[in-house]
Amino acid sequence: MPDIIQLLPDNIANQIAAGEVIQRPASAVKELLENAVDAGATEIQLLIQDAGKALVQVIDNGKGMSENDARMAFERHATSKIRKVEDLFHIQTMGFRGEALASIAAVAQVSMKTKRAEDAMGTYIEIENSTLQRLEPCAAPQGTSISMKHLFFNVPARRNFLKSNTTELRNIIDEFIRVAMPFPSIKFSLSHNGQEMFHLETGSLKQRLVQLLGHNYNAKLVPVQEETDYLTIHGFIGKPDAARKTRGEQYFFVNKRFIKSNYLHHAVMTAFDNLLAKDSYPAYCLFIDLDPAQVDVNVHPTKQEIKFEDERIIYAFVHAAVKHALAQFSIAPSLDFTLNAEIQQLEAVSQPFTSDKKEAASGSSMYQHFTEKNRAHFIEPSVSNKELKSWKSFFEAAPNKEEAPAQFEFEQKAKSPKWILQPGSPLLQSLNTYIIALTNNGFILVHQQLAHERILYERYVQLAHKHQAPTQKSLFPVQMELPPTDAALLVELLPELTLIGFQIEPFGGNSFVIQGTPADVPTGNEKHSIELLLEQFKHFKSDTTFSKREQVIRCMARQQAVKAGQSLSQKEMLTLIEELLNCDTANLTPSGNPTFISFNEAYIDGLFGR
Ligand code: ADP
Ligand code: MG
Repeated sequence: MPDIIQLLPDNIANQIAAGEVIQRPASAVKELLENAVDAGATEIQLLIQDAGKALVQVIDNGKGMSENDARMAFERHATSKIRKVEDLFHIQTMGFRGEALASIAAVAQVSMKTKRAEDAMGTYIEIENSTLQRLEPCAAPQGTSISMKHLFFNVPARRNFLKSNTTELRNIIDEFIRVAMPFPSIKFSLSHNGQEMFHLETGSLKQRLVQLLGHNYNAKLVPVQEETDYLTIHGFIGKPDAARKTRGEQYFFVNKRFIKSNYLHHAVMTAFDNLLAKDSYPAYCLFIDLDPAQVDVNVHPTKQEIKFEDERIIYAFVHAAVKHALAQFSIAPSLDFTLNAEIQQLEAVSQPFTSDKKEAASGSSMYQHFTEKNRAHFIEPSVSNKELKSWKSFFEAAPNKEEAPAQFEFEQKAKSPKWILQPGSPLLQSLNTYIIALTNNGFILVHQQLAHERILYERYVQLAHKHQAPTQKSLFPVQMELPPTDAALLVELLPELTLIGFQIEPFGGNSFVIQGTPADVPTGNEKHSIELLLEQFKHFKSDTTFSKREQVIRCMARQQAVKAGQSLSQKEMLTLIEELLNCDTANLTPSGNPTFISFNEAYIDGLFGR
């Protein structure tokens, strides 16, 4: 019997290997765009025909290749980006495995024109089925243009696996966005069948995000920026009211590489906490940059997962950074102190730093990397003001190993109010709008209207939840005639209105009878408040962020809240503040504005440089 084992011919081995790297046109798009970025291009064009099935072409003005390199580039394991194993831990480029071009050349017809700045002539090369077809000098501008035609022309089984053009194009656009987002200083464009779909000028990261996510995000992005010696996080989160019912605008990048992580997504979502309507997702684009040695990117080439040396610390860091950004954003601009009162009110900061938590945190490899100067955001009175103490929230947030994310202590709601009023001391109303109340540790400055909005909001939420809202029956039921569109809208909202305590009955045509109202709505005012609600609702309506119920509740809370400018008695002020401090999220309105600002001793001392 003869021996039966044989080496596979190169082109077949390459085809098999290519299956790992190139699954669809979008995979080629990703690899070619990343190569252009790695080549230092400042302008990158992506041209697509037939959702990438006919053509994927990337033109860049990067450093180009010599004739030899142009040939070598298509060999398997040919890369200019690493030379030895240690280099794997210092990767600064998007690619490094040297597999992409070889894979593409194994499953498509590839042609490339490339020229370096220092060369008079460029190189033209054609490869098909892993075999060189042509190699000759040519005239070319500096940079590289690669065309990949007829993907899987030689592997019909895989060609048949490709999805509809709509799906494949969607995948291409996703990859395009993921590469373009972290590089706002590179100009990108994308055309499909000759039509330009994206044209991204260079600018700030925020401008790039708005170009990619849509202009409605212009006023809806909150910056995130935290820095330690070990890692930095920066980027933007969308304001809660811009959150959408659908996912898809959530981006994490680690060292500029797009990653997917449900774990880190959870860290962001819980930082938003109850600022978000149920089942809605805030947009975010967060860049985590850390020493490449702390990340294992050497996983499967097309996988977007990534391994961190200590994932729990990254979780805590992302969570705290987003919370901090949200708290900062909710502070009125005139109170924009470097030291943030809001952040000190967060549970994560105000809860005691217990010894086992301390142990867990200091045991982590990352703990050692924090320098004093970067442990910001917290001042302890015993310490001189210039010296910022450890960012407590950060270490407290470091969860114990066994704990699932949902059980982190910093997510639990404080059941007892943290701000205790000084009993018996008088309350001051300033400008008929602000209430000053002494606490056991300083004072709080309360905005009466925003505070009342929070109180009513939580009350309505509870009522709607219990399905048995108390109604005050009108002695004289009020009849109401509405224009047809308003009538239709009211009918649509009746179930939600009933939930919070309205009793409204259709009375034929466009007429209704109001039989009862929620306990807070003053009688005699019911007709007006329904009309107001309908009016506000019309503005909300295009907004798909919130459920109908949530919108009704928010409208009602805003509408019924006591207004700024109204003088209040001691008793009214006391009730208001006591109820506020008993709220689950006392310090923010439903849309995320502060309801009060706490001036505790440490904070006031800080303001005076003490
Ligand atoms: P990797 O990017 O992992 O190194 P690739 O197969 O994607 O592997 O590319 C192989 C090599 O070809 C790269 O290391 C680089 O030297 C060169 N190369 C690829 N694309 C370009 C480009 N657009 N401009 C300049 N050089 C390129
Ligand atoms: Mg590459």
